[in-house]
Amino acid sequence: MALTKFIYPTMAALAITSCASKDSTGQEDFDYTVDRFADIEVLRYKVPDFENLTPNQRILIYYLTEAAITGRDMIWDQNGKYNLAIRDLIENIYKEYDGDRENKEFKALETYLKQIEFANGIHHHYSMDKFIPAFSQEFLKERVAKLPADRQPENLDTLLPVIFDPAVMPKRVNQAEGQDLILTSANNLYDGVSQAEVELFYNALKDTTDLTPVSWGLNTRLVKEDGKVYEQVYKVGGLYSESISRIVELLGKAAEHAENDTQRNIINKLINYYTTGDLKAFDDYSIAWVEDTGSRIDFINGFIESYGDPLGMTGAFESIVNFKNEEASHRTEVISNNAQWFEDNSPVDPRFRKDKVKGVSAKVITAAILAGDAYPATPIGINLPNANWIRAAHGSKSVTIENITQAYDQAAHGNGFNEEFVIDKETSDLLDKYLFITDNLHTDLHECLGHGSGRLLPGVDPDALKAHGATLEEARADLFALYYLGDPKLLELGLLDNPDAYKAEYYKYILNGLMTQLMRIEPGKDVEEAHMRNRQLIAAWVYEKGKADNVIEMTKRDGKTYIKINDYTKLRDLFGQLLSEVQRIKSEGDYEAGRNLVENYAVKVDPTLHKEVLERYAKLDIAPYKGFVNPVYTPVTDKDGNITDVTVSYEEDYLPQVLRYSEQYRTLPSNAK
Ligand code: ZN
Repeated sequence: MALTKFIYPTMAALAITSCASKDSTGQEDFDYTVDRFADIEVLRYKVPDFENLTPNQRILIYYLTEAAITGRDMIWDQNGKYNLAIRDLIENIYKEYDGDRENKEFKALETYLKQIEFANGIHHHYSMDKFIPAFSQEFLKERVAKLPADRQPENLDTLLPVIFDPAVMPKRVNQAEGQDLILTSANNLYDGVSQAEVELFYNALKDTTDLTPVSWGLNTRLVKEDGKVYEQVYKVGGLYSESISRIVELLGKAAEHAENDTQRNIINKLINYYTTGDLKAFDDYSIAWVEDTGSRIDFINGFIESYGDPLGMTGAFESIVNFKNEEASHRTEVISNNAQWFEDNSPVDPRFRKDKVKGVSAKVITAAILAGDAYPATPIGINLPNANWIRAAHGSKSVTIENITQAYDQAAHGNGFNEEFVIDKETSDLLDKYLFITDNLHTDLHECLGHGSGRLLPGVDPDALKAHGATLEEARADLFALYYLGDPKLLELGLLDNPDAYKAEYYKYILNGLMTQLMRIEPGKDVEEAHMRNRQLIAAWVYEKGKADNVIEMTKRDGKTYIKINDYTKLRDLFGQLLSEVQRIKSEGDYEAGRNLVENYAVKVDPTLHKEVLERYAKLDIAPYKGFVNPVYTPVTDKDGNITDVTVSYEEDYLPQVLRYSEQYRTLPSNAK
């Protein structure tokens, strides 16, 4: 299970995957790469099967996508109070510029514009550090003077240090211990209040005996005026009223095209929440939303994730509109329906197996639009709602966005990674052909079956493995998946069509665990993160235990290290042995054995190999961060102007798209003085 509510792709997983399955739209020449600047690569994604929806479903999606993009100014304003003013300024200069476009200062301004558009503000979307422009203040002032009078900012003197001075608003979210996290964070979720005042305010509201507590602060900006601390609520008639009213209007249109009454009811509950700002209404909506598993089309639109708030309360605006990928969801249903067979046939001691196991059926979706905090950088999965009591009482929806993972995969094809790290063409070809499907199956088996398999012996403390629990739990789920990927049962179930396909995932897993994931670790550091520890544990253990039979070789060629797998059948057998042992450790709560496994295999890094991997990876110049442009949806109207259908196109590039959004979906004034 993903501990974060949103599932982000691991860099290692993305970098290695390459060319995938058949292209379901038949467009072989689809260009996945759009732009490359600073540490960013912008891609585009397809929306397969959009044309196979009904016209009514397409119209529903259209209104929901409009409601999604309409929230754009809110995330900009949430991320920093000068963001909209700076966006206006830089966009205006860029659009009005009549000088040499090869000029160094102008080029630097263009890069800065692309960076802030990607981050929805002046701070990096991931590191949270403020961008420092590579153009000069003089250049900016000179260009401002050339703007038409009505486009020159009134508060240029305020904006200049915000843009140029590294000491002013240096970090959007500050998490450093011992500091006032509110006063030192540059976001715009609070104004004039200290951390102590925020905590005092919400502690007074919280009722610890409430079993169904609302998410305090989720849709508010907490401010202090004339010595009084109070909440400004995001709602119709409240803060961001201009954006939210327009979203409500569009949701109303969407409701007219709802697929069924359940879905119409959900949309109306969301409208009610946006209109009242009442957090109970949001919970009411969330419960209806999580319980709807029957509609083909689904969406989130609201103040959802709270990573942008150092205290983890206020939700960032975001929206993702999507529809169920029937074919891929069928895959997880098949796995889930056969959960008992997998449990009964596992290499684990029968005492540690479950008598009755229930598989989880994960839904696979196709994204139609990414917006707010999920644009352009986006998660590859969603696991919501966030309220713990709703998750416990009503469940949660966990989905994988397969058209996004597919776009990552396709774009990685030809980035040089396989050529650099994979031992030979034969193995590369195998990865090209089968890695996308086997990687997806690995995730499905891990999530739908792996975590849910096995049982503790009576009286064993579930937390007996303490600090090593997370690593060993991930190892258990991964081993379950790896073991079954090589099982003929998957062919019998129609999930794979070639008995050698599993070798693609095996090779990638060992290469990643023994070598390439080291690219994410700084020189001199140990492996810390639980998923990375788990991968190294498994790879290093099977490498060592298979040495006598030469199952896996680490060979040198031209001074470079390569992984060679000599015996895939024995490798599968080793995965089974380790699964059996890790399950025993968990079932018996054998802390000593668990700690020994982790400490002997998962933590330490060979410094020479580490250095080599970092050097080889750096030469590839792969962008560390990626994001997406959206498709463009165009309504088809009849002679009276009624929308009768919607078409999709993929031609729009990155800057044209964000500049168009700024113009077409402008809802908030840039009133920061
Ligand atoms: Zn997991």
